[in-house]
Amino acid sequence: MIPPFQDHPLVEEFNELKKYFRQHETEASRRRIKQFRSFARVIAEAGLPVGFDVMGSVNFGLATENSDVDLVLYVVCEDGYEGECPSPHCRTQQYVENLLIHTWIRGISDSPYPVQVVDCINLNLLKRDLEKGDPESSCLLRFAFYRSVCRGVNARLLRPYHKALLENQELVEKMKPYLWTLFDELVKSSKHNYSLMKYQDRLSQLGIGIPQSILGRIRGHLDQSRRHHGDGI
Ligand SMILES: [Zn+2]
Repeated sequence: MIPPFQDHPLVEEFNELKKYFRQHETEASRRRIKQFRSFARVIAEAGLPVGFDVMGSVNFGLATENSDVDLVLYVVCEDGYEGECPSPHCRTQQYVENLLIHTWIRGISDSPYPVQVVDCINLNLLKRDLEKGDPESSCLLRFAFYRSVCRGVNARLLRPYHKALLENQELVEKMKPYLWTLFDELVKSSKHNYSLMKYQDRLSQLGIGIPQSILGRIRGHLDQSRRHHGDGI
C-alpha cells in the first residue's frame, strides 16, 4: 500500500535510502521476517491477532546473525479497551511480548536474538481516532509514520486502517506538520541516524561500495534531521 506520508521530504529521503540498502538484503534479514510471520500466524490461530512494523536493520535488509530487532507491535486490546497499551486495564501487549520474546524466539533459534518492542498500537484506539479524524492523535500519527517507513509483517491486519487513512487525505495533510516532532522523539530513542552510519559500514565490510549519490543522501539526511531538531544527534 502507498505510504500515508509518501511525499513528506523526511519519508521520501528515508525510503530512498532504504530502497538502496534493501538491494543488498542479507539472509539473516529474510529469516527474521519469516520467523515473525510464522509467529503472527501461530498466535492468530490462538485467537490473538497481531501485526508488526519492523524498524532498524531488518527494515533496511542488513541484519546479521547477531542483530537485535526493533519493532512496533499491533494488537487488539481485550474487552474493546480503547486506551494506550499496556495499561492496568489491559495486559495484551505484555502477554504477546512475553510469548514472542521468551517463548517463540528462544524456541526457534539456537542463538536467540534480542527483540525490543519499541512501541505498541492498540487497534481499538486507532479505529476510534480514525473515525474521529483527530490530526493530533498520537496513536494515529505514529501509525501513519510507521506505515510510511517500516516493513510490515502480517500487514493484512493493518490494511483496513491504512486504507481508511489514505481515503482521508485531508486528515493526512493536517497530520504532516506533527511529523518532525515525532521523528525527533524517535531519533532520540532509537538512534536512527547512528544506525544509518552503521549500515554504511556494514556494506563496505561486505565489499559493496556506496555510490557518491547515496553517500550524499545519507549526509543530507543527517543534516536535515539536525536542522529540524536543533540539537546534535
Ligand atoms: Zn492492551
